[in-house]
Formats: sequence, C-alpha cells, structure tokens
Amino acid sequence: MTTTHSGSAQLGTEAAGTSRFVAPGIDSLNVRMGPSSAYPAVGLLMPGAEVTGIEYAGWLQITEGSLVGGCVSTDYLTTDRPAAMPSVPCPHIVGRVTTDNQFANIRSGPGFSHPIVGRYTCHERVAGALVDDGPWIRTDRGYLNGGTIAIYATNPGSLNGCIPLHLLSPIPLCYNTDSHFDPGYTQATPRYLNGSALSALHRLQAAFKRQFGHFATIDLTYRSYAEQQYWHEKFGSPRAAHPGTSNHGYGLAIDFEERDEPWIFSWGAVANRWLLTHQAGFGFHNPYASTLQEGEDYHFNFVG
Ligand SMILES: [Zn+2]
Repeated sequence: MTTTHSGSAQLGTEAAGTSRFVAPGIDSLNVRMGPSSAYPAVGLLMPGAEVTGIEYAGWLQITEGSLVGGCVSTDYLTTDRPAAMPSVPCPHIVGRVTTDNQFANIRSGPGFSHPIVGRYTCHERVAGALVDDGPWIRTDRGYLNGGTIAIYATNPGSLNGCIPLHLLSPIPLCYNTDSHFDPGYTQATPRYLNGSALSALHRLQAAFKRQFGHFATIDLTYRSYAEQQYWHEKFGSPRAAHPGTSNHGYGLAIDFEERDEPWIFSWGAVANRWLLTHQAGFGFHNPYASTLQEGEDYHFNFVG
C-alpha cells in the first residue's frame, strides 16, 4: 500500500512514480501542462481513473500512459482503489495534428485494418477519447492515431525539430542503411521516431521482410532543427524543406535508402511499388506518389 506524501517529496526521488485514483464525486479532473491551475488543460481524467506519476508540492506529474508529462492536482486524487472501475474510465484527449503540409487519417475503427474515411488537416484541433491504452482516439469524425497529434502545444510548429530525444523512440539499428553520409551518419548512428510511428514501422518491416527477405533500409528519420538547416543549405527547397516545416522534425517521416542510381526504392521499382501498395495499411503516405516519377520516392510520412 502506498502512502500519500504531504507535498514535501522532491521531484525525481520516486523514479517509478506512485499510483493514485481520481477521487469520486467530481465530474472530471483537468490534466494540465504544468503544476499550477494557470497552465492550460490538455486532457481530462474521469473519477476512478488510475494515474501514475511523481508528486511534488500538491501536484502529480504523470509518468505513464498517454498523458505523460501532464500534471494533476493531488487535491482530487485518492489512494483508495475504486470498488468497481467505472464503465468508461478512458481519458479525454485534446490535441492538434502535428504533420506539416500533410494530414492525419481518420479511420472507421481503431486500427490500421479499418478503412480510411476522412482526414484531419494540418494543425487541426482534435478532441476525443482514448481507446483502451491508445494510441487510437475516438473522435466524432472517426478514429485517429494519437501519434499524429501533439497534446502539449497550441502551436505544433513550435515543436518541429525541437523534440527531446527521450520523448522519441530509437529505431533498431538493423533498420539502418550501411551507407555513410553527411553529416556524420553511419549504420551505428541512432535514428529516432515518434513512438506510434515506430510501432507502425515495425509492422511494415515485418511484412517487408516476409516479402523481400530483408528489412527496408532507412537513411533518415527524426531531424533536429539544426540538421534540417544543414540539409536546407545543402539542397534548398523543395528537396529539403525549410527548417521548422519538415515532417522529419516531428519524428513522423522516414526516408528509406536513397541511391543515385535506380534501385529497389526508385519510382516503379519493386520495393517502391510494394510500399505504395501497402502504405495505407501501415499508416504511411508518400506525398509524391501521385506523380510516380517526381519528388522523393523514398520519403514516407506517418499519417495514422
Ligand atoms: Zn524525407
């Protein structure tokens, strides 16, 4: 049994966090960006919902689940586990589509196997309820993959290229190309993606390997603002997007291996055709695919 701290616990002394429950008798509990009611609300928890985090000065900063980083007032938390869980304890999510010059898919159900029935546009506000533990969110227009939205930013563009690596997920080194290229990439260089995008990539890679006997090799994934500046100065627009506007800056874009000579990922070649045929089933989209001859044959955005 855990005990309630008086607020004197220092942030970070309980690495794993402690579990609390949203107290009964309130409509809902705001999850805020920071430890004060002055911070904007970014989500809601219903009475009885379990929340795990680190307590400090009357606030609990969430360390597990889809609302990681958010803060809730401990005035409305209890250590008493509800006798019976409420029927729908799922958190309410409010966010904005993070892809730039892109969209996020709306599906008829919570999974990639469900058909695409619409789109949320770039930076559009999304509100809905998390399905089970996520990442799918039920909205009034259908289901959206939570990896495509930012819930702690009113201007998602401010996150572009500025996401701390610990909030992204490292891709397995075995997905990396063995090529060396600027600025300093080798096969051993860690690449990072949005966690939901990486989950989708794992599924894509498993299917790709069944088809081709090897993984789809990757050049680049997340790019920091500074690295995007480097590429933009080297190639210019549109080949390299203006710093702060590339979907690589959200960890939501993948460049499969590019070569100067035609090869499997080139337009119309075997791996490119397979990717374009199957991309929607894995939540990816090549924005240049309509041309089948121009733009980046190797670039795929995660769109849920
Ligand atoms: Zn790219």
